[in-house]
Amino acid sequence: MNKKLLLLISVCLVLFAFSIQSEEKAKETNPFFSEFDTPFGVPPFDKIKEEHYLPAFREAMTQQNWKIEAIVNNPEQPTFKNTIEALENSQTLLRTVGNVFDVLNGSMTNEKMQEIAKEVAPLRSKHRDDIRLNERLFRRVKAVYDQKDRLSLTGEQNMLLDKYYKDFVRGGANLSKEDKAELREINQELSVLTERFGENVLKEDNRFEMIIDKKADLAGLPQSVISAAAEAAKERGHDGKWVFTLHKPSMIPFLQYSGKRDLREKIFKAYISRGNHNDELDNKDILSRMVILRVKRASLLGYKSHADYVLENNMAKEPENVYDLLNQLWKPALKRAKMEAKELQEMIYKEGHDFKLQPWDWWYYTEKLKKAKYAFDEETLRPYFKLENVIDGSFYVANKLYGIQFIEKTDIPKYHEDVKVFEVKEADGSHIGIFYTDYFPRASKRGGAWMNSFRKQSRRGGKEIHPVITNNGNFSKPTGDKPALLSSEEVLTLFHEFGHALHGLLSDCTYYRISGTSVPRDFVELPSQIMENWAFEPEVLKVYAKHYKTSEVIPQELIDKLKEARHFNQGFATVEYLAASFLDMDWHTLTEAKELDVEKFETESLSRIALIPEIIVRYKSPYFRHIFSGGYSSGYYSYIWAEVLDADAFEVFKDTCLFDQKTAQSFRKNILERGGTEDPMILYKRFRGAEPKVEPLLKKRGLK
Ligand SMILES: [Zn+2]
Repeated sequence: MNKKLLLLISVCLVLFAFSIQSEEKAKETNPFFSEFDTPFGVPPFDKIKEEHYLPAFREAMTQQNWKIEAIVNNPEQPTFKNTIEALENSQTLLRTVGNVFDVLNGSMTNEKMQEIAKEVAPLRSKHRDDIRLNERLFRRVKAVYDQKDRLSLTGEQNMLLDKYYKDFVRGGANLSKEDKAELREINQELSVLTERFGENVLKEDNRFEMIIDKKADLAGLPQSVISAAAEAAKERGHDGKWVFTLHKPSMIPFLQYSGKRDLREKIFKAYISRGNHNDELDNKDILSRMVILRVKRASLLGYKSHADYVLENNMAKEPENVYDLLNQLWKPALKRAKMEAKELQEMIYKEGHDFKLQPWDWWYYTEKLKKAKYAFDEETLRPYFKLENVIDGSFYVANKLYGIQFIEKTDIPKYHEDVKVFEVKEADGSHIGIFYTDYFPRASKRGGAWMNSFRKQSRRGGKEIHPVITNNGNFSKPTGDKPALLSSEEVLTLFHEFGHALHGLLSDCTYYRISGTSVPRDFVELPSQIMENWAFEPEVLKVYAKHYKTSEVIPQELIDKLKEARHFNQGFATVEYLAASFLDMDWHTLTEAKELDVEKFETESLSRIALIPEIIVRYKSPYFRHIFSGGYSSGYYSYIWAEVLDADAFEVFKDTCLFDQKTAQSFRKNILERGGTEDPMILYKRFRGAEPKVEPLLKKRGLK
């Protein structure tokens, strides 16, 4: 043999052996491949490096595939334990890696993390599809499902079985070969159209700019708004001029403050005609096609309409229940909106004009009216809302309600110096879980506020697995010698996310899949929104809302003004939102797959509810991203559905006392501890003794 070739082969062999060795070594050092050796088993943030994720994801998927192979090859008859529970337990490592990665990619991202996210997303979705389309696996799941009445399962086990079975069925597992192929084609086309719809709106958002070159055209605008517009102009190469765009932080202040009525009209009309210019960015044909495909898919899977398909999994269950709620709210909201319109019109006349109020005037005159009615400045509240005090306030409420304690820990690993860690304990000192708070903005964190889990509560083999929960926010940071002072909106947000955290922390379920916050979308905001109610109660404010310099408790008069101002303009806000919810439902309760004139359909939908011309639906169809490129089709109603629940539930506390122990215990036992282990309406009724009513919400929004 050629000497050179021989040399090459041996080099290759050495390299090969070396690579196996280094792979083994990598496995040894990858923290995901052994139990986390940390206090309470929290992720070892100091040891987890970016290069650990991909191998961990791959290994986790391989492990699950092996486990699924074992399930389908099991010679024994399918049982709940050897099929459903085995399937539930097949993804432990995948869940651990996925949770740590997803949480940190949200709050501590960087280019490497984003690259990993891009690489891993298709792997994860393919892995999910492979499981759902595994026919042998489905046959076993179905065998268990078909005999479920004879199995004497617990309620929780029944729910878990139901979830797994429905996953398969809703994915088309019961269909014939031809129908399966058609379904795949529909899904394929839908995913392309969804993507294009969103892209078009994004391009529309960026394509419009309103350039102002005369100072006179800036009349009425606050200095901060003018500076931001000058900055935007500079970025876009219009140095020395001012630019306004269709992005909300640019457009809304313009609509609120600009005294130039023609310019308000210009930017407003540009906003509402996005995706509707009969050009390459037009979304009408796209959404019309999407509606047809959704009708086809629903009927293929045996549902009357797309809404029936979606709502089956929600608390609302059927389109009729959603319409019923929307109709109950619509009348009082529209009545209030008409009164608001009248007030604004009077203001226009008083100013000496004689034009009729138009949608592009609404923000402008509302702002003026607000100033005239409630002469108070949000900023006067901040000194009373020092972040640390607000956190203490939220802990105080949880303690008074459920007896639980939050003890700050400094010996538990964390991923950033801004993060604080708390051990959560029962009144008797027993361990509940770990709670991370991460409240300041930074470049590596996404916007907004959210709750997440590093580890969800569950039980395995009789062993309790305690939750590790996080709250994230982007709140006002300390500046100079001032501590972090929150706005009233930020206070509510903190209480809101803390409510989600309690839902995760107090969970008392067996199976991960249906524990904690794994509940339907129209139910998940109940535990969070209800917490907001305590934030501004005088009894609670007395405890935490103290001036950061003088420790003086916030004056009652300021609180009253704040509460009054919250009712302001609620007719408009509710009507604008409800109209979009009706439109969403109208599109998705169609039962015939036929081409429709989008504009005509929308006009008819909105005239059925008699929307007044001074208010435009919050999203017109060609830019209604929630339902045509987000996950909210037939689901836009869920925001207000959950608000009905939280207002109705809080009423029980108001009727007894703010910290009534019997009510608190019932809320904990029936809602917070139960996760998704039972039908949400049954859980709710067990707490409330009746189905939710809309009156408390109407009162809360000042509509009654
Ligand atoms: Zn929420």
